[in-house]
Amino acid sequence: MSETASAAETFGFQTEAKQLLHLMIHSLYSNREIFLRELISNASDAIDKLRFEGLGKPDLIGAESDYWVRISFDADAGTLTVADNGIGMTRDEVIANLGTIAKSGTAEFVAKLTGDQKKDAALIGQFGVGFYSAFIVADEVEVRTRKAGDSADAGTVWRSKGEADFTVASMAIESRGTEIVLHLKESAKEFAEDFRLRNIVRKYSDHIGVPVQLKSDDAWSTVNEAKALWTRGRNDISDDEYRGFYKHVSHDFDDPLTWSHNRVEGKLEYTSLLYVPKHAPFDLWNRDRPRGVKLYVQRVFIMDDAEQFLPLYLRFVKGVVDSNDLPLNVSREILQEDDRVATIRAALTKRVLDLLAKLAASDPDRYHEFWDEFGEVLKEGPAEDFANRESIAKLLRFASTHDGNMAQRTSLADYVGRMKEGQNKIYYLCADGFDTAKGSPQLEMFRKRGIEVLLMYDRIDDWLMSGLREFDGKPLHDVMRGELELPGEDEADSEEPAASEGLCARIKSVLGDTVEDVRASSRLVESPACLVIGENEMGVQMRRIMTAAGQHVPDSKPTLEVNLGHPLLARMDAETDDGRFTELSTLLFEQAQLADGRALKDPAAHVQRVNALLVKLLAVAE
Ligand code: ADP
Ligand code: MG
Repeated sequence: MSETASAAETFGFQTEAKQLLHLMIHSLYSNREIFLRELISNASDAIDKLRFEGLGKPDLIGAESDYWVRISFDADAGTLTVADNGIGMTRDEVIANLGTIAKSGTAEFVAKLTGDQKKDAALIGQFGVGFYSAFIVADEVEVRTRKAGDSADAGTVWRSKGEADFTVASMAIESRGTEIVLHLKESAKEFAEDFRLRNIVRKYSDHIGVPVQLKSDDAWSTVNEAKALWTRGRNDISDDEYRGFYKHVSHDFDDPLTWSHNRVEGKLEYTSLLYVPKHAPFDLWNRDRPRGVKLYVQRVFIMDDAEQFLPLYLRFVKGVVDSNDLPLNVSREILQEDDRVATIRAALTKRVLDLLAKLAASDPDRYHEFWDEFGEVLKEGPAEDFANRESIAKLLRFASTHDGNMAQRTSLADYVGRMKEGQNKIYYLCADGFDTAKGSPQLEMFRKRGIEVLLMYDRIDDWLMSGLREFDGKPLHDVMRGELELPGEDEADSEEPAASEGLCARIKSVLGDTVEDVRASSRLVESPACLVIGENEMGVQMRRIMTAAGQHVPDSKPTLEVNLGHPLLARMDAETDDGRFTELSTLLFEQAQLADGRALKDPAAHVQRVNALLVKLLAVAE
């Protein structure tokens, strides 16, 4: 490469890039060697991109069709160079790619960093460290690059000390590709050493599909296996190699939780290597965030983030699919309509669900780690993927009245195993929080009869249950809905209730159109009243979410159920003063709304009503 650079132009790093750079240098210090993994990973990506572009434009590749990543060092000068003959970058690309961070949500991400090195290191890992990790070991970095297909004088050199700014100048460069020169910090000179470099390459980059060569005694020798990992046999691959490859495809710093590697032969031939991460990415809930697997066709890289191969509710899965049947010029549009893709997608979906089921059976603790990170995403499954409803249902976990612990994770199968004799339904309750659910008056009769109820309080639960009507042949029943017939006898059932049936009609005439009906309850033990909704009505939680989203929600009136055995109801039954009866009926209704976590139409009036009663009560007490 010739060294006649033009006048350099100075640019400032994007604010987020600057902050991230600073934090990265400080928080990743204890794991400095990963900088090499990141640079080799980028070089390998650059070669993948050139191979792909070259499919349609062979001129881009020309005579130089052997690909390599080359590492060399000069111990005396304290420099380390990583070069590739991949796609290279134009001047504009250099400025955009090495001066900004294009990932959406970067600003929010940076705002979350605390300055606490340990915590930040974990966070940055999830974000993906990338090119900037060079500055962990270098106090100056120089990038010389020329885009494939451009003329020799169209090269660019980028330089930075990793502080506020970088410079860019034009430079004649004879061959395509990118060369990154690190001027090692005094404390990082150890990296300019043959044995050390060899070890790091073997440790992190063995699985890279191109040869990574190291220069010693003026000769290049290949250090890594240089065979794309997924093309090797399962038995030839160590767990460490699988983990290393995960970091390459996922840009995740952490190890994966588990993975599945399969080769399928027959009518369709493809290989898949799918990983479940340990941690949710910071932008899991960002709908526009790229997702999906890396797609290869006949070992040629085609695209990142091919989202057509997995359903949305498995968007956390990372990995590679390599198909032998798809055309090399396949586009996203074609993928969307291709039957082969649909077949592969169905098979991969099953694989992931099987992988999770296996994990749940063999290592419940690790499965619970998964559940805590991704359970809410998986809950989108039953409504999205009808065909796999039953397998997804087996993977779901809930809190339950069984031991009333929030972290407790009961599966539907556990529940079924504990069902009472004569019980043929799975009961659940949806509320806006764990405490509301656990304290709900709706649960009283269930407790008394020892019948377990699943407690649901995630925003998505109402939606989940709308897609999941039964499990193992047993209907799932919302305890808030419809009339209940619970198995088991209760001595109270045969006792004459304290208040008369006629009381219900009296209360209904006070509440009028605000309620659908007032009826005697079989749900309650200690509480005087509760609200129930119709079998097919929208749940309270769904109603709240839709209202908050500004959606029109159809009107629906709850039914007020009253506990005729309760002293308050007996007292009301005996009440002859119409004014007081109206007050008590209204209070009863308001209390039931509050216990459900509903908002009162007129909270101030409720407070006045309660206060008026308290004043009277205190007067009597004195
Ligand atoms: P990521 O690899 O996650 O995209 P990086 O920070 O590692 O993020 O790299 C930023 C971008 O810089 C890459 O997406 C790529 O466009 C460009 N880049 C980095 N290294 C090279 C290289 N050796 N050849 C070509 N482009 C590169
Ligand atoms: Mg990278």
